[in-house]
Amino acid sequence: MHDVYDLIIIGGGPGGIGAVVEAKELGLEKVLLIEKTENHSHTIRKFYKDKKRVDKDWQGQAVELEGNVAFVDGTKESTLDYFDNLLDDELIDSRFNCEVQKVQKVDDIFNVETNCGTYRSKNVIVSIGRMGKPNKPHYKIPASLRSQVSYNLDKCGNGENILVVGGGDSAVEYACELSDTNEVTLNYRRDDLSRPNPTNQAMIYKYAEDERVCLKLGIDIESVESEHGLLRMNFADGTHELYDRAIYAIGGTTPKDFLKACGITLDELGEPIFDENYESEQKGLYIAGDIAFASGGSIAIALNHGYRIVTHILSKK
Ligand SMILES: Cc1cc2nc3c(=O)[nH]c(=O)nc-3n(C[C@H](O)[C@H](O)[C@H](O)COP(=O)(O)OP(=O)(O)OC[C@H]3O[C@@H](n4cnc5c(N)ncnc54)[C@H](O)[C@@H]3O)c2cc1C
Repeated sequence: MHDVYDLIIIGGGPGGIGAVVEAKELGLEKVLLIEKTENHSHTIRKFYKDKKRVDKDWQGQAVELEGNVAFVDGTKESTLDYFDNLLDDELIDSRFNCEVQKVQKVDDIFNVETNCGTYRSKNVIVSIGRMGKPNKPHYKIPASLRSQVSYNLDKCGNGENILVVGGGDSAVEYACELSDTNEVTLNYRRDDLSRPNPTNQAMIYKYAEDERVCLKLGIDIESVESEHGLLRMNFADGTHELYDRAIYAIGGTTPKDFLKACGITLDELGEPIFDENYESEQKGLYIAGDIAFASGGSIAIALNHGYRIVTHILSKK
């Protein structure tokens, strides 16, 4: 264990992994990765369905990788294997099952307070993603229906009538996957599905044409209530439908309280303020990955953040 690290990275998702690998490759010696769950990449493990196709150009965003991580299109499993190998090969100093609660700067050194002790570092990267708290609908979900509402595929069975809500890649992938063994409707408030990447757009429209997924586009849900134990979804045009289950795939929230507890200033929209080097107003304190994007990032974008931040830290030495 080091007395004072050069860099502590909070969060072992793609942003954190990119940063730790670049730090080792580019020559930062004293580096620590802290992850709150028992393994890296919690978002990928929890929200991606098994065998999911993982696209480098996610949500149609074409990204050129800048650093030393050669991430390519693959599957959930191949991506996790690749990250396993990266972390094993680099002999990374890491703490798992260790949750950061607060970061405080004292005399130019950051104290990173966790449930397993306090670590000290000259620089800190916060890369905790947004999926710790998935976005929830603006209307209330009755308590009796909560077990029928989810934000990933964990609780889904077979033979259910399921409503998937959302208009991005995750919603489309969830709907198509579930349609093999369930009756599925995809609801999105806009008229067309322009956000998903071209592969997913082609897939969802083909599924709709083949009547494997029913599309309910251009209409919002106003409320949900229980009808004989089913979800009665009340739509804005006055119609309603009954479903066994609803899955909301509508992104994640900014972890505002956590960012504030780290000393990161937020703008009027509650998003973190940082410069072109991803450095916050506290010098030496950086933001990487999805939390640097209100509208959703990607694995490749998160990896590039790690590269740019480490390059910037080294340029100050
Ligand atoms: C269903 C779905 C499908 C997707 N498919 C693709 C795809 O095909 N291609 C693609 O490029 N992108 C895809 N994405 C987006 C991609 O997963 C994210 O852009 C990426 O994971 C962001 O990485 P990150 O490191 O910023 O955050 P995350 O991956 O969310 O990682 C954050 C990590 O920080 C940890 N953490 C949180 N709080 C703390 C704390 N207090 N202390 C310590 N650790 C903490 C978490 O446990 C987690 O491991 C998908 C997203 C979803 C939800």
